[in-house]
Amino acid sequence: MTVEKVNFEPSDLAYVPFVSVDNMMRNVRAVGVEGFMRGIAGYIEEDFLRWESFDKKPRIPAHAPQGVIELMPTSDGRTFGFKYVNGHPGNFRNGLQTVTGFGVLSNLLTGYPVLFSEMTILTALRTAANSALAATYLAPEGSTTMAIIGNGAQSDFQCLAFKEMVGITDIRAYDLDATASERLARNLNGTGLTVTVCASAQEAIEGADIITTVTADKKSATILTDNMIGSGVHINAVGGDCPGKTELHRDILLRSDIFVEFPDQTHIEGEFQQLGRDHPVTELWQVYSGKAPGRTSRDQITLFDSVGFAIEDFAALRYVRDLLPQTGHFEKLDLLADPDDPRDLFGMVLRSAAADGKAA
Ligand code: NAD
Repeated sequence: MTVEKVNFEPSDLAYVPFVSVDNMMRNVRAVGVEGFMRGIAGYIEEDFLRWESFDKKPRIPAHAPQGVIELMPTSDGRTFGFKYVNGHPGNFRNGLQTVTGFGVLSNLLTGYPVLFSEMTILTALRTAANSALAATYLAPEGSTTMAIIGNGAQSDFQCLAFKEMVGITDIRAYDLDATASERLARNLNGTGLTVTVCASAQEAIEGADIITTVTADKKSATILTDNMIGSGVHINAVGGDCPGKTELHRDILLRSDIFVEFPDQTHIEGEFQQLGRDHPVTELWQVYSGKAPGRTSRDQITLFDSVGFAIEDFAALRYVRDLLPQTGHFEKLDLLADPDDPRDLFGMVLRSAAADGKAA
């Protein structure tokens, strides 16, 4: 399905299009999961190519011992977007998601919201799309095998995005919880991917061109140690995305060329927090725009230190917003007060009370 661009003009709609979880799933099915992620990746790349036109700041967190809630705002001067997202690694013990979210796009010229969307599924899609996009610049040419350590909610999307955009055919899966790997293998059955469930991280990375770490734990874990990493691999480190929450041994970082989204945020939240702020890293937007090289040699270890940045959510919301006129999978949310006289907000309340036969 081709997505036509929608402009957010001041003549905004009288309602706010709302994409519920149900409708997000319908939208994804209308395009196909892989096509949807390819679509998001295209929008992310487009927005990274106009990086300098965005207002950028590290996200705003509220921490508890159990997890974090974060607000992720950005704007390109015409459109404003933000995501509300949490990360609570222990939630699954109570039958809850580790990561949930919702987001808004607004017309910066009128201040009116133009989209309100669930972002639990959309975050998984955009994170995978973002990882695969980075890998198209960083992974060794001809990569076919990916190890994936951490087989939870994000993992299926990662595997499918890497199949679609990088050409991965073989997945080597490991999780502390073997039932998580079995679930992943079941879900990927029939997608064209061959999945081998492994008994350890060491076994999973054997023969892998790409290693994805996407575990959840609110601590500095060591999912991979230096002696496990051979030359020439690409590491897609997704799970370390909070202060005090990392996945890789520091020595791996010292041997790798590190690529990041927004250094000011990654240094607080990513693997990069294990290094000094002046340690050299390359920003992905510079690679996409040809200002900095991606992978330059077969032996190089490349590391995408992914934490998730607001512009990726902005791009994913733009993609969804542009899709809605074609799919129609949204509801009209009565979120905007529209009195006949914009200054007579109270009069509108009075008339509503009168209509209900009550005093205001
Ligand atoms: P999840 O809880 O659904 O899955 C995490 C899995 O990791 C679980 O199956 C758990 O058993 C496994 N695990 C934990 N410790 C492990 C270890 N030491 N070795 C092997 N497996 C281990 O969580 P999720 O929604 O899939 O998210 C995974 C991580 O990705 C979280 O930390 C989340 O914060 C992060 N995340 C990052 C981004 C980003 O943009 N970088 C976006 C979304 C989520």
